[in-house]
Amino acid sequence: MAEKSIKRPCPRCGTIVNFSENPFRPFCSKRCKMADLGSWLKEEYYISTSFFEVKMEEQIAKGDK
Ligand SMILES: [Zn+2]
Repeated sequence: MAEKSIKRPCPRCGTIVNFSENPFRPFCSKRCKMADLGSWLKEEYYISTSFFEVKMEEQIAKGDK
């Protein structure tokens, strides 16, 4: 079985796309890729912000002792 075109569903919208020839893989298009990256960055920003706040609280707690 010689499969030249591997087709995979886009993880964001589910559209079946040609995996090997797709520059936006595993997404179907630039739009899906950017949308996913955007939501990931927002999440990352949220996590790092709350992490920073926890660290600040730790510093304050240590300073009180
Ligand atoms: Zn898509």
